[in-house]
Amino acid sequence: MMILGSHVKMKAPLFVEGSVLEALSYQANALMLYTGAPQNTKRLPMSELHVPEALNLMQENGIANENLIVHAPYLINLANSVKPEVGELAVSFLQSEAERTAALRARYLVVHPGSYTTADLDTGIATAIAHLNELQELPDGVVICLETMAGKGSEIGFRFEQLGTILKQLNQPEHFGICLDTCHIHDAGYDLHDFDAVLQEFDQAIGLEHLKVIHLNDSKNPCGSHKDRHANIGQGTIGLELLKKIAHHPRIEGKPTILETPYIDDEPPYAEEIALLRD
Ligand code: FE
Ligand code: FE
Ligand code: ZN
Repeated sequence: MMILGSHVKMKAPLFVEGSVLEALSYQANALMLYTGAPQNTKRLPMSELHVPEALNLMQENGIANENLIVHAPYLINLANSVKPEVGELAVSFLQSEAERTAALRARYLVVHPGSYTTADLDTGIATAIAHLNELQELPDGVVICLETMAGKGSEIGFRFEQLGTILKQLNQPEHFGICLDTCHIHDAGYDLHDFDAVLQEFDQAIGLEHLKVIHLNDSKNPCGSHKDRHANIGQGTIGLELLKKIAHHPRIEGKPTILETPYIDDEPPYAEEIALLRD
């Protein structure tokens, strides 16, 4: 079965319960949320976020706990070797996000591997590994998923080999996996027309068993552009046919698949895009 949803809001007054209601309004059976504003680290206590109500609602509607995904905020930069305080904040905040993911009874916590800023790629990768290895024992069942990136600016993680290198050197390997973003890998230069070849490259560099979450987005830019601008499903350079093929691919179907496409005229497009992809 296709496990398909979108990123959803998480805001007062219903918080996570509201997130689940939003997902249900799209006929989704998966959802992704931020535990607070994606741009900052202010977080309310989990006890205020209507978590039991949200979990009941999920259970009543057949949404499995592992199909509730958490995305860490953008300001986490694990690859920054230039400002040590940035890396230290990244470690401590990621640790607390992992605790919040566990409190949500969720499994997957998606995080961007980071940017090397004025250093270089290899230093960025080594810095990310060192920071991830500073994490204390992670909560049972929580899997931090490093996201495949477009290679915009000084981002690391835009080739599968880079992510493979990171995963292989972590001291809590059972707590790590990968989130594959179709817009990002297309912008990074992977040709999605031969998706089997892309998966084979993934398998060789990382191992397909580490692929946990999919971000399904179209792209506003050509393959290899290193831009990272998401387009609505079927409105971009990847196209509906290819995105549908990916979503229904036997190696993908069954993994939580999340749309992060832009709003259209201030309205979320997710009900229509989910129906389009399921069809
Ligand atoms: Fe992301
Ligand atoms: Fe993404
Ligand atoms: Zn993106």
